Amino acid sequence: MSNSIDALARANVRALTPYMSARRLGGNGDVWLNANEYPLAVPFELSQQTLNRYPECQPKQVIERYAAYAGVSPEQVLVSRGADEGIELLIRAFCEPGKDAVLFCPPTYGMYSVSAETFGVEYRTVSAREEWQLNLPAIADQLDGVKLVYICSPNNPTGNLLNPEDIRQLLEMTRGKALVVADEAYIDFCPEASLAGWLKDYPHLVVLRTLSKAFALAGLRCGFTLANQDVIALLLKVIAPYPLATPVADVAGQALSDEGLRIMRDHVRVLVATRENLIEQLRNCDGVEAVFPSNANYVLARFTHASTVFKALWDRGIILRDQSKQPGLTNCLRISIGTREECDRVINALKTLSASDAPEQA
Ligand code: PMP
Repeated sequence: MSNSIDALARANVRALTPYMSARRLGGNGDVWLNANEYPLAVPFELSQQTLNRYPECQPKQVIERYAAYAGVSPEQVLVSRGADEGIELLIRAFCEPGKDAVLFCPPTYGMYSVSAETFGVEYRTVSAREEWQLNLPAIADQLDGVKLVYICSPNNPTGNLLNPEDIRQLLEMTRGKALVVADEAYIDFCPEASLAGWLKDYPHLVVLRTLSKAFALAGLRCGFTLANQDVIALLLKVIAPYPLATPVADVAGQALSDEGLRIMRDHVRVLVATRENLIEQLRNCDGVEAVFPSNANYVLARFTHASTVFKALWDRGIILRDQSKQPGLTNCLRISIGTREECDRVINALKTLSASDAPEQA
């Protein structure tokens, strides 16, 4: 029976390996450092009691507040169910299955390929060059038929920003041919690096944002697409009629109030200090070969034996994200920045590990 159901599915869906989110991977930890979430919940109360009514498709207050926060006009903002939905809406609106392609530069976020595959759209990859920067000549060679180029800055999982001059060159080479989609899911940790201010110069630039990271609202599922009005109008054609539940819009509006922004910025300050402290401590641990600088709320580190470390910490209830299968990231683990205590748990666990590895003292 189940075989015959399988045969009914689209071939690309049958062949699809779904994105393995941190939640799907499971684990029994008490220190969750594998999904780049904010470690503590920010309390909210629902202010609207109108659940008998359908919500607004694009809640005005949320749009206006996000536009003010991002420094763009409300007509340049689309709100959706997380940045993940933005990634997908762009493919739905711009890519003809079996004809057009998307391009991105591994190692990077896994949903660009999964969304493309789901819609039967070809994806091309151009590996990042040293320090995970764009390989512009190789991208130029691969652009034929490409409608969307996803770039991620700060990049997940490496934590680096892309060189702005390279992004300018990419925007020049794609003008009139393809959209450049800058995934800024982590930009609130380094707001000065945002490309939102470039929208006025580039009609084909799109910026993705989310409340899941610095705003501590991963469970809310609320993200934003910033783009010029023509792009937003096309996305509005393919978005669901009611993409945001009323409580989601309610909480998002509060998170984007002056007080909400102040709390977020305080959290960012603490988190960045915790990150720098973790980086310094990791660099002093045996078995850690490299710790890469980060502009986000996670750190990538290369270990001598990543799988042993991953498993040993997992057994102690500390859940990290293994990145060693990504191109160029052999023996790399990604550690989300938790509370100071959670980061200390990581360091203490690494120290006991290296102590038990060490030859016995006479
Ligand atoms: N882009 C990147 C680079 C991410 O890491 C994530 C979250 N894992 C997303 C987009 C999706 O964010 P959201 O929770 O808003 O769907």
